[in-house]
Amino acid sequence: MSSSKFTQYIAQTSDFPLSLEISHAEGPFLYTTKGREYLDFISGIAVSSLGHRHPKVVEALHKQIDAHLHVMVYGEFIQKPQVEFAELLLSNLPSSFDQVYLVNSGTEANEGALKLAKKYTGRKKLVAFKNSYHGDTHGSLSVTGRDVYRDPYLPLLPDVHFAAFNSDDVFDLLDDQTAALIMEPIQGEGGIIPADKAWLQKIREKCSEKGILLIFDEIQSGFGRTGSLFAFQEYEVVPDILCIAKAMGGGMPIGGFVASAEIFQTFKYDPPLNHVTTFGGHPVSCAAAHANLKELLAGNYLQRAKEIELKIKDKLVGDGIVEVRGKGAMLGLELASKELTQQVVEDCFEQGILLGWTLHSNTLVRLAPPLIIEDELLEHTLDIISGTIQKYAGGM
Ligand code: PMP
Repeated sequence: MSSSKFTQYIAQTSDFPLSLEISHAEGPFLYTTKGREYLDFISGIAVSSLGHRHPKVVEALHKQIDAHLHVMVYGEFIQKPQVEFAELLLSNLPSSFDQVYLVNSGTEANEGALKLAKKYTGRKKLVAFKNSYHGDTHGSLSVTGRDVYRDPYLPLLPDVHFAAFNSDDVFDLLDDQTAALIMEPIQGEGGIIPADKAWLQKIREKCSEKGILLIFDEIQSGFGRTGSLFAFQEYEVVPDILCIAKAMGGGMPIGGFVASAEIFQTFKYDPPLNHVTTFGGHPVSCAAAHANLKELLAGNYLQRAKEIELKIKDKLVGDGIVEVRGKGAMLGLELASKELTQQVVEDCFEQGILLGWTLHSNTLVRLAPPLIIEDELLEHTLDIISGTIQKYAGGM
């Protein structure tokens, strides 16, 4: 396939697509039609946490495809893969979470969560953080804290207020007009910035005091990436609504938002059917999500994420490296300059290692290896990354 057809027919989002033509993918590796192998060290941006085509996921997919594909819009028919996935998910979450509403993507999960919070509280005001990323549809973009992405699409939702992350500014914004505070417990696209634990706990208290729904966007941090099933568990802070997607489907498109049955009641009336979706909770995606979660819980992947963090933080030190931050296998490697970052990412790519940036930072290398990566491959890769940094940073 020529790359000119790709740029001719597929609407582009930048002038610099990587343009790898993938022939197949397996475990931690991507293979191109030119016969090259790449180690996927970003897991398709925090999606393929169990590697590409995990056999359990593939098996569940075949089984579901042989049974049925789409049969009805969301919420009408009993579809076993949806119910099985939901039961397993909810039985592994705190008891305040009773139900999940299934959608197709991360941004749709956030859209649904924002609507639900407005309807449940009867309030309109929303609070979010600078440097956040919640998706590119209008509602999610309205709570995304980066002006360059927002400005071309103004006006967005009214009554959205932004505070600095990890700052006490937010407490002045949380009042009894506020429907929800939406946040990532670890900002992903903002440059892998974990929330401070005590600050997050104070936010929880203030939201409860003011009747504000606390929404955690764990679309990037969820499903084991940080070393817990969800990052909120490490913070010991339970949100009112939890938004999930990305790694949820083991490589298939699916998202969801989780809350109590009491909160979800409000979607049933005034008017009925006020939040519906045709494909949300697609049975094939749900079958994959169920197999993926079963495997994630059965294996020692959460522990593995923590080991990966230790190995990476231990190995990546030296000239040119400002810091490695984040939790588990959701890490960011902050380098000394934009030029160095670009050189390292490009050179590693030439050497068959796929790294990447985060959307809001140009000095941060995203490190999000699959949790199935074995020690030998991990160490070998870290030696290459470290050597590449030293090659360019030597004179700094
Ligand atoms: N929230 C967060 C924290 C994300 O990282 C992303 C995707 N990068 C989204 C929302 C949007 O998800 P999607 O691309 O599936 O709409």
